[in-house]
Amino acid sequence: MAESVELPGRLAILPFRNKVLLPGAFIRIRCTSQSSVKLVEQELWQREEKGLIGILPVQDAAETTSMDSMLSQGVGSESGERSSNVQVSTSDAHKVDGKNPSEVIHWHNRGVAARALHLSRGVEKPSGRVTYIVVLEGLCRFNIEELNTRGPYCTAKISPLEMTKSGYFLISIFYLLTCLEMEQVEQDPDFVTLSRQFKAIAMELISILEQKQKTGGRIKVLLETLPFHKLADIFVASFEISFEEQLCMLDSVDPKVRLSKATELVDRHLQSIRVAEKITQKVEGQLSKSQKEYLLRQQMRAIKEELGDNDDDEDDLASLERKMQNAGMPSNIWKHAQRELRRLKKMQPQQPGYNSSRVYLDLLADLPWQKASEEQELDLKAAKDHLDCDHYGLVKIKQRIIEYLAVRKLKPDARGPVLCFVGPPGVGKTSLASSIAAALGRKFIRISLGGVKDEADIRGHRRTYIGSMPGRLIDGLKRVGVCNPVMLLDEIDKTGSDVRGDPASALLEVLDPEQNKSFNDHYLNVPFDLSKVIFVATANRMQPIPPPLLDRMEVIELPGYTAEEKLRIAMQHLIPRVLDQHGLSSAFLQIPEDMVKLVIQRYTREAGVRNLERNLAALARAAAVRVAEREQAVSVSKDVHKITSPLLDNRLAEGAEMEMEVIPMVVNNHEISNAFRIASPLVVDEAMLEKILGPPRFDDQEAADRVATPGVSVGLVWTAFGGEVQFVEATSVVGNGELRLTGQLGDVIKESAQIALTWVRARVEDLKLAAAEETDLLQGKDIHIHFPAGAVPKDGPSAGVTLVTALVSLFSQKNVRADTAMTGEMTLRGLVLPVGGVKDKVLAAHRYGIKRVILPERNLKDLVEVPADVLSSLEILVAKRMEDVLEHAFDGGCPWRQHQHSKL
Ligand code: ADP
Repeated sequence: MAESVELPGRLAILPFRNKVLLPGAFIRIRCTSQSSVKLVEQELWQREEKGLIGILPVQDAAETTSMDSMLSQGVGSESGERSSNVQVSTSDAHKVDGKNPSEVIHWHNRGVAARALHLSRGVEKPSGRVTYIVVLEGLCRFNIEELNTRGPYCTAKISPLEMTKSGYFLISIFYLLTCLEMEQVEQDPDFVTLSRQFKAIAMELISILEQKQKTGGRIKVLLETLPFHKLADIFVASFEISFEEQLCMLDSVDPKVRLSKATELVDRHLQSIRVAEKITQKVEGQLSKSQKEYLLRQQMRAIKEELGDNDDDEDDLASLERKMQNAGMPSNIWKHAQRELRRLKKMQPQQPGYNSSRVYLDLLADLPWQKASEEQELDLKAAKDHLDCDHYGLVKIKQRIIEYLAVRKLKPDARGPVLCFVGPPGVGKTSLASSIAAALGRKFIRISLGGVKDEADIRGHRRTYIGSMPGRLIDGLKRVGVCNPVMLLDEIDKTGSDVRGDPASALLEVLDPEQNKSFNDHYLNVPFDLSKVIFVATANRMQPIPPPLLDRMEVIELPGYTAEEKLRIAMQHLIPRVLDQHGLSSAFLQIPEDMVKLVIQRYTREAGVRNLERNLAALARAAAVRVAEREQAVSVSKDVHKITSPLLDNRLAEGAEMEMEVIPMVVNNHEISNAFRIASPLVVDEAMLEKILGPPRFDDQEAADRVATPGVSVGLVWTAFGGEVQFVEATSVVGNGELRLTGQLGDVIKESAQIALTWVRARVEDLKLAAAEETDLLQGKDIHIHFPAGAVPKDGPSAGVTLVTALVSLFSQKNVRADTAMTGEMTLRGLVLPVGGVKDKVLAAHRYGIKRVILPERNLKDLVEVPADVLSSLEILVAKRMEDVLEHAFDGGCPWRQHQHSKL
């Protein structure tokens, strides 16, 4: 802090443009002008002991006219100088920083001596100009006695103005009388009063600053330690005041004047801070007012809504309400919906529950409470034609559907049974159901129940659950938009029950005409009338359907198709449909019957026609590509022809313009057909089949190849995909009499294997399966039985006879006939019991190219269902006992039977 200093008689003067450095203040200035750089260099930089310089305020002449201040003249730069009441001619002026020399500048006659606290020198590139940055501290005031503006920089003869504790400086002859000893001044009562005032106001400012910036601590210390006349300068220098006021402060040499001036300025600064604060508070107040307003408006809206006084007609909820009004809800449900809507209106959109309530009301409004597709007068002849047109064969089934429709025609509200189509995939269950809908002129909706284990899937979740939804039935009705669709409950046998309830029992309610008038979905929570819906169900198998559910339905079984039927379906229905789906027709692609037969035999071995349809679609896709390619080939070949014609060669040689025929390259249906009219249709042949569908997947040789070794027999099993041929392989290895079973077998089939082994062991002698001395077949042996394919789970008792045959073949080392397949359950005593799915099994045997089928005697009655053409191509062999099976299974019959009979 500036303490009293001895001032030299002459000082180099740095002009300070329109600014004042007060004692006790610090400034950082950058000197770039020639004169100031010289000054800093000579007075500060090159001196060992850093000297003092004088900072003299200068003012542009133009600015002085607007105020009544002292006149001066000089040169402006980054700093400025001025002298009171002295006007120096322009010609004498220093030229600093390229300022116009003719510019009149006023030099003040008082300045402040300053000492450099920090100096740094810089050289500008590329000009090489030297600049200085100087940090200066104002020390004390001085008076200019004589200003010398000649030379590289200004100098002045000066006299000090400040008082010191030890005495006082005689500043100049003019101030001699006004200067007092500082100690005397301090005792002056006026000064004391002024000091007190100043201190009070300064403290106030400090405390405000303290609150704002928390920086007041240091200033407080200054307030306690520095004399007031110095504090006055420091305080005033710390905030922004006008240049005139700064000059005024500089001129206040008398401590009393300075204190009173400083008190005034600090007070003004304080006031301005207070005003600024007030304004801020006011703005903040206004903000909270607007928030208050927002809240009030919200409340007002809620009150208005409560009063039903909502004038915003087009808003979201109003449109929802309109939708609800048009939904045709029964009166009790309408009341319920209105209650819910009122609740919703009172809620804020951000409130939890708003959205779920909104979604719920949307569902209520969307459900077809009354909307129904108009039922046309049922024309049975047309319905029959429709069914015939869509489906080949299935005579009995179509007849049953016509009966069903006839009853509906006579008694539309009759509670007819629910039809349930049971059969392997791809036999036309779904398409029959949709044909019923078409015949009735109703909409069709399919609800997939496959894998449904949760009752909530049928009945919905209660709305108390997060993410609750209606059940599949209500959801389906919302999608279909009418209350009287034909609803297909697909794969009803695939529903299961677990801890989450039993979907089948919920379905019971759905299918019961007495109960479904008021079906209660947990989510909907109001009854919905399902009685107008016509339900049709499908299942692959009957057995998993719970008996009570089965009881409500009339089962119509669709067995798999024979190869001949498949051929007819393909030729009459699948090929035209597939061609149409691919934008082709028989003019582009022809699939001869022989080829379809090959596809059926070599690429599909299924009960239905789904894979067949897929394979035909693959042929159609490949054909579409070829058609497109051929179209391009046609256009290219035409161009080539033109270019190579001699006429064209001549024209080209002459440089004449060439006429080109433009052939559109765009390939759409129309153009494809044109292209093909030129060329012949693409006819599928065997080579093309292999190219597109790959090498054949199945052949009739399979059975023969697989039973080529002893220990393998051919069984017939029944799966969800219809009947299948199942090979059973048995082999023996060195061991200690264990039976090992593989191939993902269930308990029942494992037990069948045990029974089979026991039966064979018990008859080891009768069957002459071992040498006379060997009484135990398993002596030193393990038996391993495997059911390929290993990845498919298998179960059921019908493999009994097949197992025994495989074991007998193994022990006797005699091959089983490859053209013979068998099915039947066997008791421990060797009786052959009847099994299920005979029709499908026989069809499967036929598909595999098996020629003989061994069936339990009591299954003979089931053969009536097997198409006659299949039966005629098969030899059906009947077995009552296991020995009968063995008799049929081996070439030349069972050679040991005679022996056994004689024993019995
Ligand atoms: P499912 O429901 O039994 O699994 P789909 O009804 O889906 O089988 O039938 C599969 C495809 O086979 C459908 O394109 C269907 O039209 C066709 N299809 C099945 N059976 C016949 C048939 N008898 N006549 C004509 N097309 C049939």
